[in-house]
Amino acid sequence: METSAKANALDQMAVPAFETAMTERSYGLLGPLTLASRKTLWPIISQTAERLCGERLALAAEAAHVMPPIGAQGLNTSLKDVQCLLHLAQARPDGLGDVAMLDAYHRARITDIRARAVGIEMLNRTSMLSVPFLRDTRAAALKGLHGIAPLRKSVMQLGLGLPKSG
Ligand SMILES: Cc1cc2nc3c(=O)[nH]c(=O)nc-3n(C[C@H](O)[C@H](O)[C@H](O)COP(=O)(O)OP(=O)(O)OC[C@H]3O[C@@H](n4cnc5c(N)ncnc54)[C@H](O)[C@@H]3O)c2cc1C
Repeated sequence: METSAKANALDQMAVPAFETAMTERSYGLLGPLTLASRKTLWPIISQTAERLCGERLALAAEAAHVMPPIGAQGLNTSLKDVQCLLHLAQARPDGLGDVAMLDAYHRARITDIRARAVGIEMLNRTSMLSVPFLRDTRAAALKGLHGIAPLRKSVMQLGLGLPKSG
């Protein structure tokens, strides 16, 4: 993630210069990097639909929620939407797309979607902190999180949408 000015500058770089910049930024950990597709700019924003349904319509995945990629939650959250729709359809096939099914879908998913969007937005804002004191506090908090195995595991399970293990 970059500020708009830096992102635009990277976007306008010629491919060889951009590949050099990519390799430098990754400290060469994976060897020299080359582009596998054209460059694309993604605005880092959060958006959540107020309602996940309308008349015979269900909004799912990125049509319903956009999250910064930092917490790797976009696809997971999208798959949970689809899984929820599938379960509702299997539970009552005759009611496919009716008001009761679509309302149940909205109620089942909206809280989880909003909670993840808020959490990711906070993580995103934290990751962009540049004031040294706040940046150091963030680094210390992440170090602490990483060092406490049960806490680290719980956060990872939460991110993956898995039930908490005993
Ligand atoms: C840079 C980046 C990194 C990400 N990293 C992660 C990650 O690490 N982990 C994670 O869980 N999620 C991640 N995500 C989010 C994840 O990619 C999305 O949440 C997920 O792809 C959403 O699925 P979708 O089907 O809604 O949309 P998409 O995958 O965007 O699919 C929409 C499809 O519709 C097609 N389409 C668009 N308009 C039309 C039209 N008019 N007619 C026909 N077809 C059309 C598009 O070509 C596209 O193929 C990331 C997203 C970005 C941008």
